[in-house]
Order: sequence, then C-alpha cells, then structure tokens
Amino acid sequence: MEESVTTYLIKLGELTLKGGNRKTFEKQLFFNAKKILREIDCRGQVISDYGRFFVECPGDPAEEKKVEWALDKLIGITGFAKAAVTEKQTDSIKKAVLEQAGKFHNFGIKTFKIETRRSDKKFPLNSYEISGEMGEAVLKEFPLKVDVKKPEGIINIEIREEKAFVYSHESRSNRGLPVGTASKGLLLLSGGIDSPVAGYRMLTRGMKLDGIYFHSYPYTSDEAKQKVIDLAAILAPYGLGFNLNIIPFTQVQMMIKKSAPEAYSTLMLRMAMMKTANLLAGFLGASALVTGESLGQVASQTIENMTVTESCAEFPVLRPLIGLDKQEIINTACKIGTYETSILPYEDCCVLFSPKHPVLKASKEEAHKIFENIGLGQELEKAFDEREIIRLTPKDGFNISFS
Ligand code: ATP
Ligand code: MG
Repeated sequence: MEESVTTYLIKLGELTLKGGNRKTFEKQLFFNAKKILREIDCRGQVISDYGRFFVECPGDPAEEKKVEWALDKLIGITGFAKAAVTEKQTDSIKKAVLEQAGKFHNFGIKTFKIETRRSDKKFPLNSYEISGEMGEAVLKEFPLKVDVKKPEGIINIEIREEKAFVYSHESRSNRGLPVGTASKGLLLLSGGIDSPVAGYRMLTRGMKLDGIYFHSYPYTSDEAKQKVIDLAAILAPYGLGFNLNIIPFTQVQMMIKKSAPEAYSTLMLRMAMMKTANLLAGFLGASALVTGESLGQVASQTIENMTVTESCAEFPVLRPLIGLDKQEIINTACKIGTYETSILPYEDCCVLFSPKHPVLKASKEEAHKIFENIGLGQELEKAFDEREIIRLTPKDGFNISFS
C-alpha cells in the first residue's frame, strides 16, 4: 500500500516584498526550513516550487506534529496550512471541498464561506465563479448555510500553476525575515522575562544570535544557571541553534562590592558586563549587542544610566524592548514559550547585590572614574577566558516543548 502524504502550504509574507533581495531571502528560508526539520529527526521534505514553499511528510500524526512544531518556530513565514492537494479540475477540487465541508458538519459548524485565489489566470473559471460553484455543491450536500460576513468555517481554495490546494485552517507564524539574512548579534541573556524576548525580536529581523550570561556562583545558584540554559534552549529552534557563553563573574562582583559606593554597584556591574561582552562580540565576529532593557523599568534603565552603560560598548547596543510595556513583553514571552521558565524563582546575580538606593541619574564622568578605581581590567579578561560554552540545538528546544 502506498504511504499517505500530508502537505503543508507555507505562506511567505514580507519576503514577497523584498524586490531584488528576494532570491537571497528565499534561499536562506529554504535552508532554515530544511535544517529545523532535519534537526528534530522529522521526515518532512521541504519543496520549493515557483517561489512557493511546501512541506510534505508521511501522513502520520507523529510526523505531522513535528512539522507543525517546526513551522511554528520558523521565522520568515506568515503562516502555514495543512492542505488537500488536487488536480486542477473542477471535479477533483469539488471532491476536496466536500470532504472539508463534511468535516465542518461533523464538528457542528453551521455557517461557512469559500474563499478562492487563482494565480493561474488560465483556469477556465475566475475566483468568484469557482467560489460560487463550490458553494452550491456544498449546499446541496450538507445542511450548512453561507455567511460571508462572520462564517464559523472558511474553506480556502488556491489554484496554482501545477495543482489546486484546499484547506480550512491557517496557523499564524512568526513573520519577519529568515535568520541568517542580517549579521550576528550577541544577546545579553539573563534569567528574567525581558532578555529572551529581546533575543526573539532580533531573530525575527534575520539576525543570528549567540548568548552571554554572567554567572556569580554561589551567589547565584546552579538552578539560576540551568534556567538560563533552558531559556537558551527555547530560543534555539527560532535561531536555528544558540551558543550560550557562561562567564564566571563572582570575582568581578566581589571587587565591585568592595570598592564602589553602594549606590553605584548595579551600574558598575552593567559596565563590567558591557566591557566583557565587547571581548566576546569581537571574538565571535558579532556586530551588535542586544539587551532586554525597557525605558524606566528599573533604576538602571533610565536614559542617563543607559547612556553610561552604552558608553562602555564598542558595538551598537540594540534594545528592541525599549518602548514596550511589561504586559506586551509578557505576551510575547508567553507566545514563544519562555515565560514559564523566566518566572521560576531563582534570582539572577543583580538582585542579591542590588543597592537599596541605586543612583538614578549617574553622570558619565563620575561613573567612569569610579569604574577605573575598581581596577577590573585584567579580571574581565580572566572571566572571558574562563567562559563555559554550551551549544543548544533546535532539538533541545523540541525536547523541552514535549517534556
Ligand atoms: P531581564 O528580564 O532580561 O532579566 P530585567 O528587567 O531584570 O531584565 P535588568 O536586570 O536591569 O533588567 O537587566 C537589563 C538587561 O541586562 C537584561 O535584559 C539583560 O540583557 C542584561 N543582563 C542583566 N543581568 C544579566 C546577566 N546576569 N547576564 C547577562 N545579561 C544580563
Ligand atoms: Mg533580570
């Protein structure tokens, strides 16, 4: 017996607008789609046909689950739909439409409409006529009613060069541009809610990301470190892999605590982080630093204090969350699956050392003077040299999703 095949139709949104670059973007997307499926041991095949993308997999629920999981993570597509593929003949299309209408009927759906798109203009009927003819066939066969304004179910028909496609549900995806079409960024990843979302936002602009996490054992626990590793694993499918660099920062933090005025300790720590991130970004060939800062959210995120931290950076500092409120950030964290991990109670290093009355509007000169006095230069290089690298793959994210 021939094995049944399930087809997914992939919708490219913004990509179609990209004029001259379009080919490069499509090539990267094709590569990314193949890579994520392969990495989770999925048998789905990606097919590119006249600039359209499809995935075909064995008609087996386990394989379909993997494909849907992967397409949900793939950046650069607007959506995907499991579709019936038919010959471009009215009878075969009608058969697929009636099958779909039958499913509606069984699910208790009472109203429907048909939406047709025709990229093959040679097809004998126009979109309007196809919808009309198919709608009539459905009405004859099932006790359903047409409702063009607020239907409970929509049957989509797409007539393309080679085949026709019939489907009724389109899953929304990440949109944006395929990862790998912008240069590389280094994400300052902590265990909180914000930085994973900031990373995701830059991935959706095509940036490839590595991560850096500053760990101050035993002031921050192994659980706190594991939490950041888990967050990196959840980002890995979106980023098609994510290398996390863990920097031992206990000594640096102790030196700051010993030599800097308490009010400045958080700011000094931020400056030390930026300077260490410079070393790593240079080493990795990254061209930007990415943080989860949002204006005014905490004392270290005033314009004045961000001006100070930024003055330590040798790369542009990208802050994709700068103008978002917490709820918007949380919504995205929930959508991408980082929220549940981020709210686990393990503190990250800044909390334990945070001053009661942090400086809110530090002057750049003052801050740099205090920083110089701590004498961290060599200690930062030592911390950088002693980093631990953990390579997360899409499979790690897959395992977390289904654990
Ligand atoms: P988050 O929710 O991302 O932890 P936050 O609201 O707690 O952010 P801060 O603690 O002020 O804010 O941190 C601001 C940004 O600095 C973080 O978004 C992150 O990019 C970076 N950062 C803070 N702590 C660390 C750390 N231990 N390792 C790496 N980056 C860090
Ligand atoms: Mg934090």
